[in-house]
Amino acid sequence: MSASFPAHHSDTIFALATAPGRSGIAVIRVSGPKADDALRALTKQRLPAERIAVVRTLFDKTNDDIIDTALVLRFAAPHSYTGENVVEFQTHGGPAVIASLLRVLGRQGGLRLAEPGEFSRRAVENGRLDLTQAEAIADLVAAETDAQRRQAVRQSEGKLAELYEDWRARLIRSAAWVEAALDFPDEEIPADATERSRLVINEIAAEIRRHLDDGHRGEILRDGLQVAVIGPPNAGKSSLVNALARRDVAIVSPFPGTTRDVIEVRLDLKGYPVIVADTAGLREAEGPIEAEGIRRARSRAESAHVRLLVEDGSSAEGHWSGSRSGDVVVWNKADLVNNRARQGLWISAKTGEGLAELIDTLAARAKDHMQGEAPALTRARHREALEQAAHSLEQAQMTKQAELAAEHLRQAMRAIGRITGRVDLDELLDVVFRDFCLGK
Ligand code: GDP
Repeated sequence: MSASFPAHHSDTIFALATAPGRSGIAVIRVSGPKADDALRALTKQRLPAERIAVVRTLFDKTNDDIIDTALVLRFAAPHSYTGENVVEFQTHGGPAVIASLLRVLGRQGGLRLAEPGEFSRRAVENGRLDLTQAEAIADLVAAETDAQRRQAVRQSEGKLAELYEDWRARLIRSAAWVEAALDFPDEEIPADATERSRLVINEIAAEIRRHLDDGHRGEILRDGLQVAVIGPPNAGKSSLVNALARRDVAIVSPFPGTTRDVIEVRLDLKGYPVIVADTAGLREAEGPIEAEGIRRARSRAESAHVRLLVEDGSSAEGHWSGSRSGDVVVWNKADLVNNRARQGLWISAKTGEGLAELIDTLAARAKDHMQGEAPALTRARHREALEQAAHSLEQAQMTKQAELAAEHLRQAMRAIGRITGRVDLDELLDVVFRDFCLGK
């Protein structure tokens, strides 16, 4: 799909930027060299001043039909989101209004519907955003909780790019001495300069390793903390997941991920995204299909960040055989038990007793996994590039040959540059914009 993007943008793109459907207002964006022509044709008037909102009647000039009355904003290149001429129409958000305006725009010469992510892609290509900022915009659109929103805002402000560009800039300076020694062997390279660059390279390698070794907190925050609900049959696991999903404090996102074997609910626990999965398949297998379900549920429970062990507090049996240290343990069916001699949190999925405390406990675990001072790595793409960079730096540290060291340093710089998009741009853009949605 992305391979069809032209290298230079002679075509003007348009898309609905707000969610499709019925709403008070819909925003339709146009970007490219023909944006102003499209505006003139639609309004049958001179262009409004830049960055001043004006009310305009929009016409379909083929039959003089009035499409709608809209608020119109014009941004002239390069001072726009994409860096191109941009026009935004705020129309009434009815499906017929939107469809009609999109149809009329599509009939204009040189205009076509935008590909997913194409506005942000142009913004990157025109130097308005670096790649991590563009990714942050996708994250901001997808953010379901406050902590996710804050991380995306920080990244969209360029905090992550600053960190990576700082490493790259320091490496460029240090590598320059190594290269200089190679290119001008007859010149005197001060011994302390080579020594200093060696120290800087060691320092950066250590900083990258520390950044990589952050317990994946940025990625967990982006994707949600995985909590697997485990325990013996009939302890009340499904009842608990349902009870959590119905609590007001645990706002459930409208995107339930229900599979055959694992039922999961996405919760917003005090701003932290938590995905609670009921591993319903952890029962005795009756046939090959159920056995496969159990296998999947087990592997899901194994890969979870936190295991929530539900015990039946009304049963005389002790801890379940599958319990482990580190599990969050709850004794369920507190409503049936008067003598609560067992240590731990007593809850009732039936009456709701203890659920507030359980939510506090899970939110605290989520916070431990996600919170930190420095900007966090947020994507596997960044992690892979930094692993490569760290590896190349370590090889540069080990070799005695200056030529090899210089090549390893170049590889490290290229790997870091790929994160922000300073190199290999085209190839990278396809990967980055694949999961963008239309109009963003
Ligand atoms: P699972 O097999 O662990 O998923 O257990 P279920 O959620 O299917 O519950 C097993 C049985 O215990 C059902 O009959 C539930 O109604 C009941 N149950 C679950 N939680 C409670 C509770 O807190 N109190 C009482 N009295 N019954 C419960």
